[in-house]
This record gives sequence, C-alpha cells and structure tokens, in this order.
Amino acid sequence: MMNAVPPADNHVPSQWSWDADDGDMDRTCARAVELGLPSIAFTEHADWVRGETAVFDAAGYFECLERCRAAYPDLRILSGVEMGEPHWFPERVATLLAAGFDRVLASMHCIEWEGRTTDAAHRGFLTSDAVDGMFRKYLGEVLAMVESDVPFEVIAHLDYPKRYWPDQPAYDDAPFEGEFRAVLRAAARRDLALEVNTTRGRDPARYLCPGPVVLGWWCEEGGKAVSFGSDAHSVEHVAAGFHLAQDMVTAAGFKAHDDPLAFWTR
Ligand SMILES: [Zn+2]
Repeated sequence: MMNAVPPADNHVPSQWSWDADDGDMDRTCARAVELGLPSIAFTEHADWVRGETAVFDAAGYFECLERCRAAYPDLRILSGVEMGEPHWFPERVATLLAAGFDRVLASMHCIEWEGRTTDAAHRGFLTSDAVDGMFRKYLGEVLAMVESDVPFEVIAHLDYPKRYWPDQPAYDDAPFEGEFRAVLRAAARRDLALEVNTTRGRDPARYLCPGPVVLGWWCEEGGKAVSFGSDAHSVEHVAAGFHLAQDMVTAAGFKAHDDPLAFWTR
C-alpha cells in the first residue's frame, strides 16, 4: 500500500559531495517536486578519512541551498551532512556541525583490516574467505560510533558492506544477529533513527539496507524511528525504491506522521 504522500528523502548528496559528479541540487529539487516528495535533505559527504578534499565546502553549499529554497518554495529543503567515521574525528565533527544542519547522518564506510583503512566499496576488498570477519569488525566499529558522544541523529546504511558482498558465501543477516542487536540496542538508548537506505532503487532483496530481519530486531531492541534515504548520487535516483521500503517499514509497524518532516515512528 502506498501512502498518498511519499516519505521525505533524508539522504541525497549533490554536486557538493566529492563522489557525486552527476549530482545537481537544482534539478534534484525539480525532480522531488515532480515526485510529490514533501521534503528532501541534501546530505553532503564529510569523509575526513579520505583527506580534506572529501569534505564539502559548507559556505558554497549553503548559498546553493538558499538559491534552491527560493526557487522551490513548496518543497521543504533541509540542510544535512553524512559524516563518515565521525568518532575518529571528534574535533572536525564539532567544527563542521557548528554551521548548523537539519539532518545529521553518521556512517561507517571504512574498516581497518590488516593494517589498512579501506572503504568496503573498494572493488575486491571484501573477499569470500575474510568477509565474515570483516563484517563483524565493521559492525563493531558501528557500535563504537553509536556509543561515542559524537552528535548525530540517524545511522545511515547500517549494513553498508552488504552492497559489496562477494558472490559466495551469500549474504545472510542471521550469523551477525548478536553484533546487530548490540548496535541497535545502543542506538535505541540514544533515541537515534535507523535509516532504511534504498541504494538508488537497486534489487531490494540485496540492497534495502537494512532489510526486514534487521528492522525486526530494531523494533525488538526498542528502536522507535525510521528515516528513508535513497542515497541518490544523480537526479533520476531520488526516492528510488521508496515504495518497497515503505511496504517493509509499514509491515514492521511504523507509521508516517502528519508532519512530513518527522521520522516514521512506532
Ligand atoms: Zn554513505
């Protein structure tokens, strides 16, 4: 069942992010209006682990955001940031967040493995023989991030390495239940929102991050809120896959609010 109004897309980088060359804030707003989205958050990457060039220019970004707000008065355009590995960079986080953002997402993209810090998206990094240990290490880092006192409100793509999983062994949530539940319990204690990331609308069986099993654990561990994010790095992927995410989230007992800016809750 589709809700009349789709959820806000709370995770969209634009051209201000180092990895979104096809991003276009203005055209993305036009697309969001076309789709009837109540709100969109432009969450730019701050990936300190990759060096200062992977942290967006906040002054230029806010100017661009204001131009779009003036051009699209009926769309609620939120400012935002997706901080990578923020608990490794608490001072830089404090400096960045002083600018004031409506949506603050925290993500793990990288893990330290055999002396190197590598993004799980790095082609060939997650190998069949090591992926089990790598993912446990990854979830341990997510737990450290959630248990840190770095301020944020949403955990983005909790099971990010799933997107880059090797063909064998097939991905399964079950062996990692203990690690997932530890993260989810800590997140519920902090009153965080769990993002359902639709990975730009790719195959939902593999690319809804997280999927229904982990979402069920979120409920059991006391999680109250869900945020929707397409992670669109180009205009045509805004809100892609949202109908499937909505079905899953609704089945887990979450509901939309009258206020379209609010997270879905249960
Ligand atoms: Zn991310």
